[in-house]
Amino acid sequence: MPIYEYKCNACNANFETLVMGSSIPECPSCDSKDLSRLMSACGFISKSSGSSGETQVKSSAGSSGCGSCSSSSCSSCGVG
Ligand SMILES: [Zn+2]
Repeated sequence: MPIYEYKCNACNANFETLVMGSSIPECPSCDSKDLSRLMSACGFISKSSGSSGETQVKSSAGSSGCGSCSSSSCSSCGVG
């Protein structure tokens, strides 16, 4: 199950949460849904799901976070 790191745009709180499907979590501090997905670890998904082969980061609606993790470069989260 994917754990995503979010940054709240309302109160700038950072938190990690499990994400079920395309559900949008709420900020635990202020209940805002104005969040930016950070994705705590770029290689997390590919390592945990070896059967899928290639890393597949499904960019759900409004993925303003680290959407380029599936490629070789990942400037958004500063890894690689
Ligand atoms: Zn907040």
